Amino acid sequence: MSDSGTVTSSKPVLDVDKIRKDFPVLSRQVNGKPLVYLDNAATTQKPWAVIERVHKFDSEEYGTVRRGAYKMSEGSTQMYEEGRQKVADLLGTPDRNEIIFTSGTTQSVNLVAQSYGRKFLMEGDEVIISQIEHHANIVPWQMITEEKGATLKIIPCNDKGELLMEEYEKLLSPKTKVVAVNHVSNALGTINPVKEIIDLGHKAGAVVLIDGAQSTPHMNLNVRELDCDFYTFSGHKMYGPSGIGGVYGKMEILKSMPPYVTGGDMIRQVTFDKTTFNEPPSRFEAGTPPISQVIGLGAAIDYMQSVGLDKIAEYEHSLLEYGTRLLQEIDGLRIIGTADNKASILSFYLDAIHPHDMVTLLDQDGIAARGGHHCAQPTMQRFKVPATTRASVSFYNKTEELDLLAESIRKAIKIFS
Ligand code: PLP
Repeated sequence: MSDSGTVTSSKPVLDVDKIRKDFPVLSRQVNGKPLVYLDNAATTQKPWAVIERVHKFDSEEYGTVRRGAYKMSEGSTQMYEEGRQKVADLLGTPDRNEIIFTSGTTQSVNLVAQSYGRKFLMEGDEVIISQIEHHANIVPWQMITEEKGATLKIIPCNDKGELLMEEYEKLLSPKTKVVAVNHVSNALGTINPVKEIIDLGHKAGAVVLIDGAQSTPHMNLNVRELDCDFYTFSGHKMYGPSGIGGVYGKMEILKSMPPYVTGGDMIRQVTFDKTTFNEPPSRFEAGTPPISQVIGLGAAIDYMQSVGLDKIAEYEHSLLEYGTRLLQEIDGLRIIGTADNKASILSFYLDAIHPHDMVTLLDQDGIAARGGHHCAQPTMQRFKVPATTRASVSFYNKTEELDLLAESIRKAIKIFS
Protein backbone atom coordinates (compact mmCIF):
# COMPACT_ATOMS: atom_id res chain seq x y z
CA MET A 1 0.00 0.00 0.00
CA SER A 2 1.28 3.47 -0.84
CA ASP A 3 1.49 6.15 1.86
CA SER A 4 -1.77 7.68 0.75
CA GLY A 5 -3.53 4.31 0.33
CA THR A 6 -5.46 2.81 -2.58
CA VAL A 7 -9.03 1.85 -3.27
CA THR A 8 -8.50 -1.62 -1.80
CA SER A 9 -6.49 -0.53 1.23
CA SER A 10 -7.94 -0.15 4.71
CA LYS A 11 -7.49 3.62 4.44
CA PRO A 12 -8.86 4.58 1.02
CA VAL A 13 -7.15 7.43 -0.75
CA LEU A 14 -10.45 9.34 -0.97
CA ASP A 15 -13.61 9.44 1.12
CA VAL A 16 -15.87 8.74 -1.85
CA ASP A 17 -19.10 8.58 0.18
CA LYS A 18 -18.40 12.10 1.42
CA ILE A 19 -17.45 13.28 -2.06
CA ARG A 20 -20.66 11.87 -3.55
CA LYS A 21 -22.73 14.05 -1.22
CA ASP A 22 -21.16 17.05 -2.97
CA PHE A 23 -22.80 16.02 -6.28
CA PRO A 24 -26.60 16.30 -6.00
CA VAL A 25 -27.37 14.43 -9.22
CA LEU A 26 -25.65 11.29 -7.96
CA SER A 27 -28.46 10.63 -5.50
CA ARG A 28 -31.19 10.54 -8.14
CA GLN A 29 -32.88 7.47 -9.54
CA VAL A 30 -33.07 6.50 -13.21
CA ASN A 31 -35.61 3.92 -14.35
CA GLY A 32 -36.32 3.18 -10.69
CA LYS A 33 -32.66 2.39 -9.95
CA PRO A 34 -29.97 4.51 -8.33
CA LEU A 35 -28.07 6.38 -11.02
CA VAL A 36 -24.70 4.85 -11.90
CA TYR A 37 -23.04 7.62 -13.87
CA LEU A 38 -20.28 6.24 -16.07
CA ASP A 39 -20.20 8.75 -18.93
CA ASN A 40 -17.60 11.06 -17.44
CA ALA A 41 -15.47 11.17 -20.58
CA ALA A 42 -18.43 12.78 -22.37
CA THR A 43 -19.23 15.21 -19.58
CA THR A 44 -18.87 15.31 -15.81
CA GLN A 45 -21.44 16.15 -13.14
CA LYS A 46 -21.25 19.32 -11.08
CA PRO A 47 -20.64 19.63 -7.34
CA TRP A 48 -22.72 22.00 -5.19
CA ALA A 49 -19.68 24.26 -5.03
CA VAL A 50 -20.04 24.98 -8.76
CA ILE A 51 -23.85 25.10 -8.83
CA GLU A 52 -23.98 27.46 -5.85
CA ARG A 53 -21.17 29.68 -7.08
CA VAL A 54 -22.86 30.19 -10.46
CA HIS A 55 -26.21 30.75 -8.74
CA LYS A 56 -24.72 33.39 -6.43
CA PHE A 57 -22.98 35.12 -9.32
CA ASP A 58 -26.08 35.11 -11.53
CA SER A 59 -28.46 36.16 -8.75
CA GLU A 60 -26.33 38.74 -6.92
CA GLU A 61 -23.18 39.71 -8.80
CA TYR A 62 -23.79 39.47 -12.55
CA GLY A 63 -22.53 42.22 -14.80
CA THR A 64 -20.71 42.44 -18.09
CA VAL A 65 -16.94 42.34 -18.20
CA ARG A 66 -14.29 44.75 -19.42
CA ARG A 67 -16.64 47.53 -20.43
CA GLY A 68 -18.40 49.03 -17.46
CA ALA A 69 -16.87 51.44 -14.97
CA TYR A 70 -19.66 50.72 -12.46
CA LYS A 71 -19.18 48.45 -9.47
CA MET A 72 -21.03 45.37 -10.77
CA SER A 73 -19.06 45.36 -14.00
CA GLU A 74 -15.76 45.95 -12.24
CA GLY A 75 -16.56 43.09 -9.87
CA SER A 76 -17.48 40.78 -12.76
CA THR A 77 -14.29 41.66 -14.61
CA GLN A 78 -12.22 40.90 -11.53
CA MET A 79 -13.96 37.54 -10.96
CA TYR A 80 -13.62 36.67 -14.64
CA GLU A 81 -9.88 37.35 -14.52
CA GLU A 82 -9.62 35.38 -11.28
CA GLY A 83 -11.12 32.47 -13.25
CA ARG A 84 -8.32 32.87 -15.79
CA GLN A 85 -5.78 32.88 -12.95
CA LYS A 86 -7.20 29.63 -11.56
CA VAL A 87 -6.84 27.96 -14.97
CA ALA A 88 -3.27 29.29 -15.24
CA ASP A 89 -2.45 27.89 -11.79
CA LEU A 90 -4.03 24.54 -12.65
CA LEU A 91 -2.10 24.21 -15.91
CA GLY A 92 1.13 25.53 -14.44
CA THR A 93 1.81 28.80 -16.23
CA PRO A 94 2.81 31.90 -14.24
CA ASP A 95 1.32 34.15 -16.97
CA ARG A 96 -2.48 34.08 -16.91
CA ASN A 97 -2.59 35.97 -20.21
CA GLU A 98 -1.43 32.76 -21.85
CA ILE A 99 -4.91 31.33 -21.16
CA ILE A 100 -7.48 32.06 -23.88
CA PHE A 101 -11.09 31.27 -23.08
CA THR A 102 -13.10 29.50 -25.77
CA SER A 103 -16.24 27.38 -25.70
CA GLY A 104 -14.12 24.24 -25.26
CA THR A 105 -11.53 22.04 -26.87
CA THR A 106 -13.32 21.98 -30.24
CA GLN A 107 -13.16 25.74 -30.56
CA SER A 108 -9.63 25.81 -29.15
CA VAL A 109 -8.26 23.48 -31.84
CA ASN A 110 -10.15 25.43 -34.49
CA LEU A 111 -8.64 28.66 -33.14
CA VAL A 112 -5.10 27.31 -33.45
CA ALA A 113 -5.71 25.71 -36.86
CA GLN A 114 -7.42 28.77 -38.30
CA SER A 115 -5.15 31.40 -36.76
CA TYR A 116 -1.70 29.79 -36.46
CA GLY A 117 -2.31 27.35 -39.32
CA ARG A 118 -3.66 29.92 -41.76
CA LYS A 119 -0.72 32.24 -41.12
CA PHE A 120 2.17 29.81 -40.91
CA LEU A 121 1.28 26.74 -43.01
CA MET A 122 2.54 26.80 -46.59
CA GLU A 123 2.14 24.55 -49.57
CA GLY A 124 4.15 21.36 -49.07
CA ASP A 125 4.21 21.65 -45.26
CA GLU A 126 3.07 18.80 -43.06
CA VAL A 127 0.88 18.49 -39.97
CA ILE A 128 1.09 15.34 -37.86
CA ILE A 129 -1.81 14.00 -35.81
CA SER A 130 -2.41 10.47 -34.50
CA GLN A 131 -4.67 7.60 -35.40
CA ILE A 132 -6.50 7.86 -32.07
CA GLU A 133 -7.72 11.46 -32.13
CA HIS A 134 -11.16 12.89 -31.42
CA HIS A 135 -12.72 14.44 -34.55
CA ALA A 136 -12.12 17.84 -32.90
CA ASN A 137 -8.39 17.27 -33.39
CA ILE A 138 -8.74 15.84 -36.90
CA VAL A 139 -11.21 17.87 -38.92
CA PRO A 140 -9.77 21.37 -38.21
CA TRP A 141 -6.37 20.11 -39.42
CA GLN A 142 -7.89 18.42 -42.45
CA MET A 143 -9.61 21.67 -43.42
CA ILE A 144 -6.58 23.92 -43.03
CA THR A 145 -4.07 21.54 -44.66
CA GLU A 146 -6.40 21.14 -47.61
CA GLU A 147 -6.82 24.89 -47.90
CA LYS A 148 -3.08 25.56 -47.72
CA GLY A 149 -1.88 22.68 -49.91
CA ALA A 150 -0.23 21.04 -46.90
CA THR A 151 -0.39 17.33 -45.99
CA LEU A 152 -1.80 15.57 -42.95
CA LYS A 153 0.30 12.69 -41.62
CA ILE A 154 -0.94 10.11 -39.14
CA ILE A 155 0.99 8.39 -36.30
CA PRO A 156 -0.31 4.80 -36.24
CA CYS A 157 -0.98 2.82 -33.06
CA ASN A 158 -0.45 -0.81 -32.08
CA ASP A 159 -3.17 -3.29 -31.14
CA LYS A 160 -3.15 -2.01 -27.56
CA GLY A 161 -3.87 1.53 -28.71
CA GLU A 162 -0.37 2.86 -28.03
CA LEU A 163 1.21 5.24 -30.51
CA LEU A 164 4.14 3.79 -32.46
CA MET A 165 6.83 6.26 -31.53
CA GLU A 166 9.33 4.93 -34.07
CA GLU A 167 6.75 5.64 -36.79
CA TYR A 168 6.29 9.13 -35.39
CA GLU A 169 10.02 9.75 -35.61
CA LYS A 170 9.97 8.61 -39.23
CA LEU A 171 7.17 11.05 -40.05
CA LEU A 172 9.01 14.05 -38.59
CA SER A 173 11.01 16.17 -41.03
CA PRO A 174 11.78 19.84 -41.70
CA LYS A 175 8.41 19.91 -43.50
CA THR A 176 6.60 19.25 -40.20
CA LYS A 177 5.10 22.53 -38.99
CA VAL A 178 2.52 21.34 -36.47
CA VAL A 179 2.11 18.22 -34.33
CA ALA A 180 -1.31 17.86 -32.66
CA VAL A 181 -2.13 14.88 -30.45
CA ASN A 182 -4.33 14.18 -27.48
CA HIS A 183 -2.88 13.63 -24.03
CA VAL A 184 -5.50 10.97 -23.24
CA SER A 185 -7.56 9.25 -25.93
CA ASN A 186 -11.29 9.60 -25.28
CA ALA A 187 -12.11 6.35 -27.11
CA LEU A 188 -9.42 4.11 -25.60
CA GLY A 189 -8.05 5.82 -22.50
CA THR A 190 -4.44 5.63 -23.73
CA ILE A 191 -2.18 8.16 -22.00
CA ASN A 192 0.17 9.28 -24.74
CA PRO A 193 3.87 9.98 -24.05
CA VAL A 194 3.34 13.68 -24.69
CA LYS A 195 6.64 14.91 -23.25
CA GLU A 196 8.53 12.76 -25.76
CA ILE A 197 6.14 13.76 -28.56
CA ILE A 198 6.67 17.45 -27.75
CA ASP A 199 10.47 17.20 -27.53
CA LEU A 200 10.74 15.29 -30.81
CA GLY A 201 8.33 17.72 -32.51
CA HIS A 202 10.41 20.68 -31.35
CA LYS A 203 13.62 19.05 -32.58
CA ALA A 204 12.04 18.94 -36.04
CA GLY A 205 11.11 22.62 -35.71
CA ALA A 206 7.34 22.11 -35.30
CA VAL A 207 4.93 23.63 -32.79
CA VAL A 208 3.07 21.08 -30.70
CA LEU A 209 -0.57 21.22 -29.61
CA ILE A 210 -1.80 18.85 -26.93
CA ASP A 211 -5.55 18.17 -26.75
CA GLY A 212 -6.07 18.01 -23.00
CA ALA A 213 -9.84 17.48 -23.00
CA GLN A 214 -9.45 14.09 -21.28
CA SER A 215 -6.36 14.75 -19.19
CA THR A 216 -7.20 17.97 -17.33
CA PRO A 217 -9.86 16.30 -15.12
CA HIS A 218 -7.66 13.36 -14.21
CA MET A 219 -4.07 14.36 -13.50
CA ASN A 220 -1.71 17.04 -12.31
CA LEU A 221 -0.31 18.97 -15.25
CA ASN A 222 2.36 21.51 -15.92
CA VAL A 223 2.39 22.99 -19.39
CA ARG A 224 5.68 24.77 -18.73
CA GLU A 225 7.40 21.51 -17.81
CA LEU A 226 5.82 19.75 -20.78
CA ASP A 227 6.99 22.69 -22.91
CA CYS A 228 4.01 22.28 -25.27
CA ASP A 229 3.09 25.28 -27.41
CA PHE A 230 -0.68 24.85 -26.99
CA TYR A 231 -2.77 22.86 -24.50
CA THR A 232 -6.56 22.70 -24.77
CA PHE A 233 -9.25 21.96 -22.16
CA SER A 234 -13.04 21.74 -21.75
CA GLY A 235 -14.75 22.98 -18.58
CA HIS A 236 -17.68 20.55 -18.79
CA LYS A 237 -15.30 17.60 -18.53
CA MET A 238 -13.72 19.11 -15.39
CA TYR A 239 -16.86 19.37 -13.21
CA GLY A 240 -17.55 22.88 -14.50
CA PRO A 241 -20.23 24.39 -16.74
CA SER A 242 -20.59 23.61 -20.45
CA GLY A 243 -19.84 26.30 -23.01
CA ILE A 244 -16.47 27.18 -21.47
CA GLY A 245 -12.98 25.87 -22.05
CA GLY A 246 -9.86 27.23 -23.54
CA VAL A 247 -6.35 26.91 -24.73
CA TYR A 248 -3.00 27.67 -23.16
CA GLY A 249 -0.54 29.10 -25.67
CA LYS A 250 3.04 30.30 -25.28
CA MET A 251 2.91 34.08 -25.24
CA GLU A 252 5.44 34.68 -28.00
CA ILE A 253 3.46 32.35 -30.28
CA LEU A 254 0.10 33.88 -29.35
CA LYS A 255 1.51 37.32 -30.11
CA SER A 256 2.51 36.15 -33.58
CA MET A 257 -1.00 34.92 -34.36
CA PRO A 258 -3.76 36.94 -36.06
CA PRO A 259 -7.29 37.08 -34.59
CA TYR A 260 -9.56 34.15 -35.36
CA VAL A 261 -12.99 35.63 -34.59
CA THR A 262 -13.32 39.41 -34.89
CA GLY A 263 -15.63 42.02 -33.38
CA GLY A 264 -15.92 43.83 -30.07
CA ASP A 265 -13.42 43.54 -27.21
CA MET A 266 -10.61 42.11 -29.32
CA ILE A 267 -9.65 45.46 -30.86
CA ARG A 268 -7.40 48.29 -29.75
CA GLN A 269 -8.79 50.84 -32.19
CA VAL A 270 -11.27 50.75 -35.04
CA THR A 271 -11.60 53.29 -37.84
CA PHE A 272 -13.13 52.67 -41.24
CA ASP A 273 -9.59 52.71 -42.66
CA LYS A 274 -7.89 50.33 -40.27
CA THR A 275 -8.39 48.23 -37.15
CA THR A 276 -5.64 47.39 -34.68
CA PHE A 277 -5.96 44.44 -32.34
CA ASN A 278 -5.51 43.88 -28.63
CA GLU A 279 -2.73 41.78 -27.15
CA PRO A 280 -3.54 38.17 -26.16
CA PRO A 281 -5.70 36.97 -24.52
CA SER A 282 -8.36 39.54 -25.52
CA ARG A 283 -7.26 39.41 -29.19
CA PHE A 284 -8.80 35.94 -29.23
CA GLU A 285 -11.88 36.63 -27.10
CA ALA A 286 -14.19 38.64 -29.37
CA GLY A 287 -17.62 39.56 -28.06
CA THR A 288 -19.16 39.15 -24.62
CA PRO A 289 -17.63 35.99 -23.15
CA PRO A 290 -19.43 33.28 -21.14
CA ILE A 291 -18.99 35.11 -17.84
CA SER A 292 -20.96 32.90 -15.43
CA GLN A 293 -19.32 29.87 -17.00
CA VAL A 294 -15.83 31.19 -16.28
CA ILE A 295 -16.83 31.85 -12.66
CA GLY A 296 -18.22 28.30 -12.47
CA LEU A 297 -15.07 26.86 -14.01
CA GLY A 298 -13.02 28.64 -11.36
CA ALA A 299 -15.17 27.01 -8.66
CA ALA A 300 -14.73 23.62 -10.33
CA ILE A 301 -10.95 24.03 -10.31
CA ASP A 302 -11.04 24.99 -6.63
CA TYR A 303 -13.11 21.88 -5.98
CA MET A 304 -10.79 19.52 -7.89
CA GLN A 305 -7.79 21.00 -6.12
CA SER A 306 -9.46 20.60 -2.73
CA VAL A 307 -9.84 16.88 -3.49
CA GLY A 308 -6.29 16.79 -4.90
CA LEU A 309 -5.38 15.87 -8.46
CA ASP A 310 -2.76 13.33 -7.41
CA LYS A 311 -5.31 11.59 -5.20
CA ILE A 312 -7.87 11.75 -8.03
CA ALA A 313 -5.38 10.11 -10.42
CA GLU A 314 -4.46 7.42 -7.92
CA TYR A 315 -8.04 6.59 -6.98
CA GLU A 316 -9.31 6.57 -10.56
CA HIS A 317 -6.45 4.31 -11.57
CA SER A 318 -7.51 1.81 -8.92
CA LEU A 319 -11.08 1.97 -10.26
CA LEU A 320 -9.81 1.40 -13.78
CA GLU A 321 -7.82 -1.67 -12.71
CA TYR A 322 -10.79 -3.01 -10.77
CA GLY A 323 -13.17 -2.49 -13.71
CA THR A 324 -10.68 -3.99 -16.17
CA ARG A 325 -10.44 -7.17 -14.09
CA LEU A 326 -14.24 -7.45 -13.96
CA LEU A 327 -14.70 -6.97 -17.69
CA GLN A 328 -11.89 -9.40 -18.54
CA GLU A 329 -13.89 -12.12 -16.78
CA ILE A 330 -16.88 -11.71 -19.13
CA ASP A 331 -16.96 -14.27 -21.96
CA GLY A 332 -16.92 -12.76 -25.43
CA LEU A 333 -16.15 -9.24 -24.23
CA ARG A 334 -13.20 -7.53 -25.89
CA ILE A 335 -11.68 -4.50 -24.22
CA ILE A 336 -10.74 -1.98 -26.91
CA GLY A 337 -7.70 -0.08 -25.72
CA THR A 338 -5.34 -2.01 -23.47
CA ALA A 339 -2.43 0.41 -23.29
CA ASP A 340 -0.01 -0.06 -20.38
CA ASN A 341 -0.54 3.59 -19.47
CA LYS A 342 -4.28 4.31 -19.34
CA ALA A 343 -6.72 6.69 -17.69
CA SER A 344 -10.32 6.27 -16.63
CA ILE A 345 -11.82 4.69 -19.75
CA LEU A 346 -13.21 1.20 -20.25
CA SER A 347 -14.18 0.77 -23.89
CA PHE A 348 -15.46 -2.65 -24.92
CA TYR A 349 -17.16 -4.60 -27.67
CA LEU A 350 -19.18 -7.80 -27.86
CA ASP A 351 -19.87 -9.37 -31.25
CA ALA A 352 -23.35 -10.40 -30.16
CA ILE A 353 -24.63 -6.97 -29.01
CA HIS A 354 -24.36 -3.64 -30.77
CA PRO A 355 -23.20 -0.92 -28.34
CA HIS A 356 -26.44 1.01 -28.94
CA ASP A 357 -28.43 -1.98 -27.68
CA MET A 358 -25.98 -2.48 -24.84
CA VAL A 359 -26.34 1.09 -23.52
CA THR A 360 -30.13 0.90 -23.82
CA LEU A 361 -30.12 -2.21 -21.63
CA LEU A 362 -27.62 -0.68 -19.18
CA ASP A 363 -29.88 2.37 -18.92
CA GLN A 364 -32.71 0.14 -17.72
CA ASP A 365 -30.48 -0.65 -14.74
CA GLY A 366 -29.84 3.04 -14.13
CA ILE A 367 -26.37 2.90 -15.71
CA ALA A 368 -25.38 5.84 -17.91
CA ALA A 369 -22.67 4.75 -20.38
CA ARG A 370 -21.95 5.78 -23.93
CA GLY A 371 -22.39 3.61 -27.01
CA GLY A 372 -21.04 4.86 -30.31
CA HIS A 373 -17.90 5.92 -32.10
CA HIS A 374 -17.15 8.62 -29.50
CA CYS A 375 -16.32 11.14 -32.23
CA ALA A 376 -13.32 8.97 -33.06
CA GLN A 377 -14.33 7.08 -36.19
CA PRO A 378 -10.73 6.48 -37.35
CA THR A 379 -10.04 4.81 -33.98
CA MET A 380 -13.04 2.52 -34.53
CA GLN A 381 -11.76 1.77 -38.05
CA ARG A 382 -8.32 0.89 -36.63
CA PHE A 383 -9.87 -1.64 -34.26
CA LYS A 384 -12.36 -2.90 -36.86
CA VAL A 385 -15.43 -2.22 -34.73
CA PRO A 386 -18.42 -0.06 -35.71
CA ALA A 387 -18.62 1.41 -32.21
CA THR A 388 -17.84 0.55 -28.60
CA THR A 389 -19.60 0.75 -25.28
CA ARG A 390 -17.64 3.12 -23.08
CA ALA A 391 -17.77 3.31 -19.30
CA SER A 392 -15.65 6.19 -18.07
CA VAL A 393 -14.99 6.70 -14.39
CA SER A 394 -14.54 9.70 -12.14
CA PHE A 395 -13.36 10.00 -8.55
CA TYR A 396 -17.02 9.98 -7.42
CA ASN A 397 -17.54 6.46 -8.76
CA LYS A 398 -17.28 3.37 -6.56
CA THR A 399 -16.19 -0.21 -7.14
CA GLU A 400 -19.77 -1.27 -6.31
CA GLU A 401 -20.93 0.66 -9.38
CA LEU A 402 -18.51 -1.28 -11.55
CA ASP A 403 -19.89 -4.50 -10.03
CA LEU A 404 -23.36 -3.35 -11.13
CA LEU A 405 -22.01 -2.58 -14.61
CA ALA A 406 -20.55 -6.09 -14.95
CA GLU A 407 -23.78 -7.65 -13.67
CA SER A 408 -25.85 -5.61 -16.10
CA ILE A 409 -23.59 -6.58 -19.03
CA ARG A 410 -24.04 -10.25 -18.13
CA LYS A 411 -27.84 -9.74 -18.08
CA ALA A 412 -27.67 -8.13 -21.53
CA ILE A 413 -25.64 -11.06 -22.85
CA LYS A 414 -28.31 -13.48 -21.58
CA ILE A 415 -31.06 -11.49 -23.30
CA PHE A 416 -29.17 -11.62 -26.61
CA SER A 417 -28.08 -15.28 -26.41
N1 PLP B 1 -10.84 16.02 -27.67
C1 PLP B 1 -11.10 14.98 -26.88
C2 PLP B 1 -10.00 14.00 -26.58
C3 PLP B 1 -12.37 14.81 -26.35
O1 PLP B 1 -12.64 13.77 -25.57
C4 PLP B 1 -13.39 15.76 -26.66
C5 PLP B 1 -14.76 15.56 -26.17
O2 PLP B 1 -15.21 14.48 -25.98
C6 PLP B 1 -13.05 16.84 -27.46
C7 PLP B 1 -11.77 16.95 -27.95
C8 PLP B 1 -14.05 17.90 -27.79
O3 PLP B 1 -14.36 18.58 -26.63
P1 PLP B 1 -15.57 19.61 -26.56
O4 PLP B 1 -16.77 18.86 -27.08
O5 PLP B 1 -15.68 19.95 -25.12
O6 PLP B 1 -15.22 20.76 -27.41
